[in-house]
Parts: sequence; structure tokens; C-alpha cells
Amino acid sequence: MIPVTKPFLPPQAEYQEYIDNIWKRQWLTNMGPLASQLEMELKDHLKVQHLLFLTNGTVAIQMAIKALEITGEVITTPFSFIATTSSIVWENCTPVFVDIDPKSLCIDAKKIEKAITEKTTAILATHVYGNPCDVEAIDIIAKKHNLKVIYDAAHAFGVEVNGKSIFEYGDISTCSLHATKLYHTVEGGLIITKDPDMLKKLAYIRNFGISGFDSFAELGLNGKNSEFHAAMGLVNLKYINEIHEKRKALTKLYDEKLKNLKAVKPLWHSNANENFAYYAIVLESEELLLKLKTEMDKQEIFTRRYFYPSLASALPYLPKLELPITEDIAKRALCLPLYYDLTFEEVELISRLMLRIQNN
Ligand SMILES: *Cc1c(COP(=O)(O)O)cnc(C)c1O
Repeated sequence: MIPVTKPFLPPQAEYQEYIDNIWKRQWLTNMGPLASQLEMELKDHLKVQHLLFLTNGTVAIQMAIKALEITGEVITTPFSFIATTSSIVWENCTPVFVDIDPKSLCIDAKKIEKAITEKTTAILATHVYGNPCDVEAIDIIAKKHNLKVIYDAAHAFGVEVNGKSIFEYGDISTCSLHATKLYHTVEGGLIITKDPDMLKKLAYIRNFGISGFDSFAELGLNGKNSEFHAAMGLVNLKYINEIHEKRKALTKLYDEKLKNLKAVKPLWHSNANENFAYYAIVLESEELLLKLKTEMDKQEIFTRRYFYPSLASALPYLPKLELPITEDIAKRALCLPLYYDLTFEEVELISRLMLRIQNN
């Protein structure tokens, strides 16, 4: 069996060492020493000024919307994970879907302005598979129309644009550190801002809005993460370069072996590095995708239709809207197995099998 993803697990003894120390300190959660250390090491690693370690990537999006006091309509992408859209609705805002660019698969910045109304207050866009949105164009539009910008950067750990962390674009970026992601803390998330006042506000929101022993500064929630999760993050961070190199090599091998597959890869931002978070392809037709997926499922090689279906046309709590490019891409996009433990032999096997099924 080959799953589509598999969480990275470090040598157990290294994690155990951190756990032994947690036992000695008996400090389990509430911004403990490991959580603080992880925040410092991540700031250093990612070259960002401020970040907070949170429960998960979904709470990070909800906190971003709340902290920026976003109301009314939020322009967003239908080609993302459900948490992007559901967080907008959860915060009592209305998602306004704008179609994606057929090459990058991120929101089409050229179509944003037409969707702006007097109710629009923000743009919430996803860096799909870690591939940066057109951040420069979005920035210009946001300034012109006085809109806030949040990036769902759940996939974008380690990506830089023009030599600067992708997390520093927009007013706030969020990231997921879930077990299935490139870098993980089992469950976890990050929220990143360049604004020190915003950081302070977010820190209050993360901890119920508490600002002192008997005072409250904000409406808050519980977005804290634990020492056990921070420990996993600290150990995994030691392996991040190894993880990156392995994923890169596996990706290069897929590229070479799948040259004759009737598929294209998303066009990566020209001034950004790849982080190899996913091996995503867009097949020539949905028919070919279904043929490949069905046959590979039979061989217990699991691929994932990610993202499918379009968030604009599939949610029971929203009116249905069919955006042509998203509908088309969502039907043809497929993620192949990619994870640290995957072997080169397995990539060769998967590639050979895919070509055989296509040519049959
Ligand atoms: C994983 C993911 C999320 C949610 O993150 P969690 O940590 O699982 O809550 C949000 N957006 C995108 C694009 C994701 O892939």
C-alpha cells in the first residue's frame, strides 16, 4: 500500500528526551518554555519578525478575520481547502468567489477588482500547493480599495518571494502545522504579521482576551498549543532540510519519469522557491484522471483529488456558483504520493503504472 501522504516521524528517542523534561517541569501548556522556544526557532528559520504558535491552521484564519475586524464581503478563492471558506462564514462574513488563474491555480488577481462592492472589506487568498499568489498585484488592489489581505499560507512553509518570506505578505498570513503538512507539530498552526500592535492583539485573542490577572483586552478564544506539540515541532525542525532535500529529489524523479503523461504542473511564481509540499498535476481530462485513480486505487496506490470539488459550487450553506476555470481545474487536478519515507523505487513504480494505464 502506498498512501498519498504520511506524516514525518523523527527518531522516537529524540522526542522522548523532550517529554522527559516536560515531566520534570510539569508545565504542559499555556505558552510554556517549549512553545516559546519553538516560536523563536521558527522566526529564525522562516526569517519573519513576529509569529504565534496556535492550536491549528483553521483557528489561525478565524483569528485573523476577527483581529482585522473584517465584516461584510470577503473576496476569496474557490480552489482551496474547506477551512478557507468555512472560516469566512464562521466569522459571519460572506465569501465572494473569484475564479482562479488556469496556470498558477491561485486566485486570478485580474478578476478581483470586478468583484469588489461597497461591502467588500478584505481579500482572503490561498497559496495553492505553496505556490505564491500574485502578491504584488493583490497588494496594489488592496491599497487602492482600502482592503485587508489575509493569506491562507497553510501549504507555503519555507517559501520565499523576492528573497522575503511569503508569510510577510499581506496584513496577516496563516499556516497549518497539521501532521499531513510539509512541516508539522501533530496539530498546530501559525499566525504571522509584520505589525507589532497586531501581534499583541492576536496574542490576547489566543488566550481568551486575557491581558492581566484581572483584566481583559479583547474578545478572545482558546488558540494556545501544548508543550507536547511544541516538542514535536522542535524535533522536526532539526530535520527540515533533510525533508526538503528528499522531497525535492522525489519531485525531480517524478518530473523525469512522467514526461509523457498527458498532464501539466501548476506554473510556479517566477521569483519564488518551491517547497515540494505536494506533487500536483492537472490531467488532460477528467476521464483520464478517473481512469488513473480507479486503476491505482485497485493496486492500493492512493492519490487524492485535491482540491475537489470547487468550494463555490459544493457547500450546502452557500448559494451555488459555477466558475468555469475552477470547475474545470478541480475536475482534472490530482495529487500523487509525496512524503519523506516514499522511496525512489516507489516513484518509479507509480510513474510506470500511470503511463501504462494512460496508454491502455
Ligand atoms: C490544512 C489546511 C488548512 C487547515 O489547517 P488545520 O491545521 O488542519 O486546521 C487550511 N487551509 C488550507 C489550504 C489547508 O491545506
